[in-house]
Amino acid sequence: MHNIAIDGPAGAGKSTIAKIAAKKLGFIYVDTGAMYRAMALYFIRNKINGKDEAAISGACGKIDISIEYQNGEQVVLLNGENVNAFIRTEQVSMMTSDISKYAVVRSKLLDIQRNLADTKDVIMDGRDIGTCVLPNADTKIYLTASTSERARRRYKEQTKRGISCDIEQIKRDIAARDEQDMNREIAPLKQAEDAVLVDSSNLTIDEAVDAVINIYKKGANGC
Ligand code: C5P
Repeated sequence: MHNIAIDGPAGAGKSTIAKIAAKKLGFIYVDTGAMYRAMALYFIRNKINGKDEAAISGACGKIDISIEYQNGEQVVLLNGENVNAFIRTEQVSMMTSDISKYAVVRSKLLDIQRNLADTKDVIMDGRDIGTCVLPNADTKIYLTASTSERARRRYKEQTKRGISCDIEQIKRDIAARDEQDMNREIAPLKQAEDAVLVDSSNLTIDEAVDAVINIYKKGANGC
């Protein structure tokens, strides 16, 4: 199986770029953030405090997360329910960052992620794919962009979805989430030693997709 790992901070364009690159390469796109988001949604719905590790641990056993593909789109099932439509709000984003620091949450999702990569050619994106989930991935990419560019993109994306938002608030939320994701004890966001850095601040989507595919092809050819 061939695996491409893409990590990077919030809003760097990982999912947009990985989705298109996966299609071009005939790989499956795996969005690991969506799995963490589905868990966060469970805690929000059940009024469980994201800072209360004991409560989170207690509830984890009641959560079943699985992934399906419908018309090529990844669908995340939370206890059998398709929750794709509910996991993209800022409230879910912040809860996700809070709860993804707990070992009990991470270990629950690790097996699902590794199983997918064992059985399929995947482009998997997240925060710890190159460093932790798939340390032997064929290609590792650390995709980033400036904070203001990331905020601008997130603003555009949310507005397109009909969600009203404030760009300055998005910038603050992104910075807070990065800070938390980079400084947690378990599986923090960082560039793997053998990852290639791609800064997408000044790249079009097509250029960033080409960069990813070229890095993969070079590696795969042993050049
Ligand atoms: O990629 P996305 O923005 O959907 O991720 C939401 C949150 O999920 C991140 O801010 C991070 O806290 C968590 N996450 C993680 N490890 C991953 C993917 C996401 O901790 N592999």
